[in-house]
Amino acid sequence: MSLFSYAAPLDEMRFVIERVLNAPAQWAAVPALADLDADTAAEVLAQAARFTSEVLQPINGPGDRQGCRIVDSRVKTPDGFPDAWRQFVEGGWPALACDPDWGGQGLPQLLNAALFEMLVAANHGWTMYPGLLHGAYETIKAHGSDELKQRYLPKLVSGEWLAAMGLTEPQAGSDLGGVRTKAEPRADGSVAVTGGKIFISGGDHDLTDNIVHLVLCRLPDAPPGTKGLSLALVPTVLPDGTRNTTAADGIEHKMGIHGSATCVMRYEAATGWLVGEPHRGLPAMFLMMNAARLHVALQGLGHLDMATQNAERYATEREQFKGPIARQPAMQRTLGRLRAVTDGLRVVMYRVAMRLDEAEHHPDAAVREAAAAEASILTPVLKAFGTQQGFQGASDALQVWGGYGYVAEYGIEQTVRDARIAMIYEGTNEIQAIDLVQRKLLGGAGPAFETLLDGLLQDAGDDACGLALRDQVGHARAALAALRTAAAADAQAPLWVADDMLAGVGHLMLAWAWAVTARAADSDGDADRARRAAAEHGARWVLPQADVHWARVRSLAAT
Ligand SMILES: Cc1cc2nc3c(=O)[nH]c(=O)nc-3n(C[C@H](O)[C@H](O)[C@H](O)COP(=O)(O)OP(=O)(O)OC[C@H]3O[C@@H](n4cnc5c(N)ncnc54)[C@H](O)[C@@H]3O)c2cc1C
Repeated sequence: MSLFSYAAPLDEMRFVIERVLNAPAQWAAVPALADLDADTAAEVLAQAARFTSEVLQPINGPGDRQGCRIVDSRVKTPDGFPDAWRQFVEGGWPALACDPDWGGQGLPQLLNAALFEMLVAANHGWTMYPGLLHGAYETIKAHGSDELKQRYLPKLVSGEWLAAMGLTEPQAGSDLGGVRTKAEPRADGSVAVTGGKIFISGGDHDLTDNIVHLVLCRLPDAPPGTKGLSLALVPTVLPDGTRNTTAADGIEHKMGIHGSATCVMRYEAATGWLVGEPHRGLPAMFLMMNAARLHVALQGLGHLDMATQNAERYATEREQFKGPIARQPAMQRTLGRLRAVTDGLRVVMYRVAMRLDEAEHHPDAAVREAAAAEASILTPVLKAFGTQQGFQGASDALQVWGGYGYVAEYGIEQTVRDARIAMIYEGTNEIQAIDLVQRKLLGGAGPAFETLLDGLLQDAGDDACGLALRDQVGHARAALAALRTAAAADAQAPLWVADDMLAGVGHLMLAWAWAVTARAADSDGDADRARRAAAEHGARWVLPQADVHWARVRSLAAT
């Protein structure tokens, strides 16, 4: 049997970018991206694919087995991790979507999304280190003082330094209102940050000399709850080259992503500087978390693709009952579902990345606003639905290996373990569902959701996938009406079905993806035939799962 391996799906990425979403036309219409063409983008992705398969994937399994450890009070990552980071930096990858004014390459978020899909598929543990880079960059760029921007942005953009996000404390997980870490103002304008944080990804490591922590904390006069939170930038190395009073007291022993150092952090009057206004830390932090949420969604896609491509291969090699198991109807259903959801999620995630590019760069303010509204509605959906599909898909793929899947040397069990965390961090999937239903659909973004539904409907043809999409749009409209009716009677009632609404919208977006894929795959070639088959499989065999979610949301209005 061939080994568990990863080949970046470059042909599929190109198909989605060029033929399904027609991204090159978008780039041509936006001055900031007008220099980019389809061939250049394809070459960027091909180089990224080489890095992921030649550098990252070979250290994925060994990194999982070796894990991180503390040596002389400092965290050491698995063998090969620092060297892979050096090569990543030399390739200019940390700067891909950052502003050229700060040393970035100014490429679209769409290409960055494809890059992160590949990085995670090849090595989730390693990818945790750059995972917070763009979020930190966005937060400091939007809210930092000029001095902080000059001092930190160029080195974050180049990858000379990395970033960490310090939110969680033992008593403050989903409810950040409980954060107790203190920030005492000093006469020189800095703050002294004192407290402890847990679960801090990349809080310490040996990939870079300096790690820029963005820490939620409280000033002495802070009101209680989330309205009293401030955000401080606390580097592990101070501008004069001395070490700050921050330390990793321990590393969590986890189910997966063993290559990622999840640290228990201590800040002892550590020197920091406020980012943004006092007591306005949470809105500033949300910028970092929103960028990170799309990256976490892409973790789901990366794992799903890794699991799918290996399961497809294994099922043709493994023989039982005088033939490959891939011929068994039950296995065909499993493999068909994996392929359909993988391909569909890629289309939806790349669509949202394109909306982020429009929201940032489009010359027309109305287009920017509409794009931002759509991305804001779909980000929690992709985070929760994408990561749930990533874990479920990895588990379904493990089933394809039978008993061998449960044995470490076949690789898929690591994917299952690694994929699980994405449903928990960056706001648990339950918190994403509340965000979608309470803050977005019932909290002002309802009209933008209806505009999204109108737009999706325009893509529904009269073929099987198009009809399935019409059906899903109808369900979504009825579900939104039910949520509104229920909320009018009891504001808390919609929370009973928030996860169902999110799963329904996830399936709706898959239905759209399959409809536009079936139409774009219009040639008689083998690749297009396979794409149409996957889309039709999704519409026929996966979408019925949405019925139960929609039914539960509708039942809310009846009660
Ligand atoms: C490997 C790893 C890496 C991490 N990296 C970071 C990091 O870099 N920085 C950082 O700050 N944190 C990090 N975290 C912390 C992570 O973000 C938290 O674990 C997460 O926010 C959940 O908090 P909690 O674990 O305290 O769970 P709790 O908040 O105690 O939640 C427990 C359960 O209750 C549910 N729940 C809670 N409130 C509600 C509600 N209102 N409605 C419905 N359900 C609810 C949750 O969804 C969850 O299922 C990391 C965690 C892990 C395990």
